[in-house]
Amino acid sequence: MKPGPKSRPETPWLLAFGAHPDDIEFGCGGAIAVETRAGHAAHFVICSRGEAASHGTPARRTSEAKRSAALLGATVEFLELDGDAHLERRVAQAIKLAGVLRRLRPRIVLAPSPEENQHPDHSRLGQLVRDAARLARYGGVKELRAKAPHAVDQLLFYAVTPDAEPSAIPPVLIDISAPEIVAAWTAAMEVHVSQTRAREYVELQLTRARLCGLRAGVGRAMALFPSVPVVLDSLAHVCRGARGF
Ligand SMILES: [Zn+2]
Repeated sequence: MKPGPKSRPETPWLLAFGAHPDDIEFGCGGAIAVETRAGHAAHFVICSRGEAASHGTPARRTSEAKRSAALLGATVEFLELDGDAHLERRVAQAIKLAGVLRRLRPRIVLAPSPEENQHPDHSRLGQLVRDAARLARYGGVKELRAKAPHAVDQLLFYAVTPDAEPSAIPPVLIDISAPEIVAAWTAAMEVHVSQTRAREYVELQLTRARLCGLRAGVGRAMALFPSVPVVLDSLAHVCRGARGF
């Protein structure tokens, strides 16, 4: 792994949103490690400090999130919304997140899946980020006029748990097989000791990546779900298809 930037990149290529301090790492940490290793600056915006969790204090969760982001070569900031377990889908929150998009101007955005039947904050944040990606483009939103409109190239959803994988969206499968990628991702997950003590979350995610890899015909892979169809300039940019079976 290349060491991460010391301070927040002015315009990160990749911006990942998480509802709680471990969502990004568990949901899409392998895919992030691939990008930071390739030299793409990545930044995390975490929208609570896990204060409603059964395990771990907010201070400890914050510390774990900072160390984990560093292991993935990413910078991190915390954003106050409604608080852990209290997130609501409101226009004011979408505008706040759109303001973040205008300030940071990323090309690629990752957010939790809007699929329900999981922690309600996850799906609500996914919906809010989807709304925010649209509002960030609209020049006439008066609350956002301080910064120029910004259109992200693509918003992709990640699934923190298998239940959150959207059945209606064909996934993009990211090959995360390289040993240094798996090692960095595993280390980033294991930093969240307050969470991994209670449940075998790391094993769950590594097993999911192995199953996804079998589907893709590689060692390990991670599924991301584009919020809108991916547009290509040419069929020459089509990578291989999944052909594990
Ligand atoms: Zn969570």
